[in-house]
Amino acid sequence: MTCLKPHDAQPAETAKENLDYNPFDVMIPRASAAVPAQARNGAKVKSRNQAPHGRVYLPNNNILTPLMRSPDYVQISTAAAMTLGLMPGRMYRCSCTRCLNLLLTYPEGCRANCAYCGLARHREADRDYADRNFIRVDWPAVPIDRIIEIVSQDGAATPFHRMCISMITHPRSEDDTFTVLRKWTGRIDRDTVPVSILSNATTMTRTDVLKLRDMGADIFTVALDAATPEIFDRTRGKGVQSPHNWKKYWEILMDARDIFGDQKFGAHIIVGMGETEHDVLSLVQRIVELGGHSHMFCFFPEKGSLMDHLPATPRDQWRRVQLGRYLIDYCGVRVRQMTFDEAGRVSDFGLPQGELDVIIDSGIAFRTSGCPGKFAEDISACDRPYGDSPPSNIASYPFPPNAADLRLVRHQLRIEKPSEPYVQGEEHEFAEG
Ligand code: SF4
Repeated sequence: MTCLKPHDAQPAETAKENLDYNPFDVMIPRASAAVPAQARNGAKVKSRNQAPHGRVYLPNNNILTPLMRSPDYVQISTAAAMTLGLMPGRMYRCSCTRCLNLLLTYPEGCRANCAYCGLARHREADRDYADRNFIRVDWPAVPIDRIIEIVSQDGAATPFHRMCISMITHPRSEDDTFTVLRKWTGRIDRDTVPVSILSNATTMTRTDVLKLRDMGADIFTVALDAATPEIFDRTRGKGVQSPHNWKKYWEILMDARDIFGDQKFGAHIIVGMGETEHDVLSLVQRIVELGGHSHMFCFFPEKGSLMDHLPATPRDQWRRVQLGRYLIDYCGVRVRQMTFDEAGRVSDFGLPQGELDVIIDSGIAFRTSGCPGKFAEDISACDRPYGDSPPSNIASYPFPPNAADLRLVRHQLRIEKPSEPYVQGEEHEFAEG
């Protein structure tokens, strides 16, 4: 058993016409097929009304999906299920995950239709909600009480540095998030495992944000996902018959800034959906100037999504943005110090090479970004193993990259040290080094 979902798609070395980035005019979602009436709104699962049994439901599109609903049930990442001991298996070069990601679950599923997302509404045509892949992995469903029981038994020895409730777009999402948070904080010390909220801005109000803070949530994040209003509208708004709106997302982000305060809010951004590097790094800077952080994802063509025909983000584009984001978020560098070419690509990071070398060689810039854990402020608890790439070509490192990994990163950035050239495939050979 492994958490690594077989997937043929590989990140491109270069995109269209040998470009080393994914341009706007290429990254166009495909149209979704019509959903038959008998498959809408979880009708199949609700009409079968199959009771769940056992301590975990493992996604399987070949058996009847039981009727499971939040707040009694939540879905958890495969990595979290392994870390909790609810599933067997090992992850490539990771012993566990440090973030317990909970995803609300309903037979009706998420009512939005974001083009890059495996949970999107159009998928009800071919797959029940609890069986859908999301950020490349399966999400087993488990009773919330069972999860809380396991974590509370571990006490201070828990492997988790953080828990995160991922809201989806559903009419019950706010109330059920309150219930899950109340249950959690009733049993788990909030300093031992602080809680983040990955919000659903579309249906939320400022009062909801306030309530979550007062109930003990530590960090509040907004999944902007798209770096520009045009890409937002094309991938998760009117372009794909989805309800989201850029302005509303920013309203909730600003509410989070007011209510949760400095360093306690952030935004998710997917890199490589057609924005320029200047676009995305300008957004990162805007969020830093507001007092928040950016949590980055490398675009990957999720199987079954409306963008599954498109190229994953070329590694050099991704590495430049990862490094630029880290410099802005944690090193005080500003976009105006950087130089960009006519295509908006970073051509100079605005730091002397010696200083840049020290930052690259620490490797933190290339690790998964997200809410902090207990190791350091700039090391994310949310390591999302292989959520944005296959392990054969890692985008976000869920572990500290070793010397061979960093030679590969430098090779991808085209700033190899002459004395330490990258040798093709060496990162796998020395994987345990
Ligand atoms: S709102 Fe979130 S879960 Fe729903 S389709 Fe969009 S990205 Fe996926």
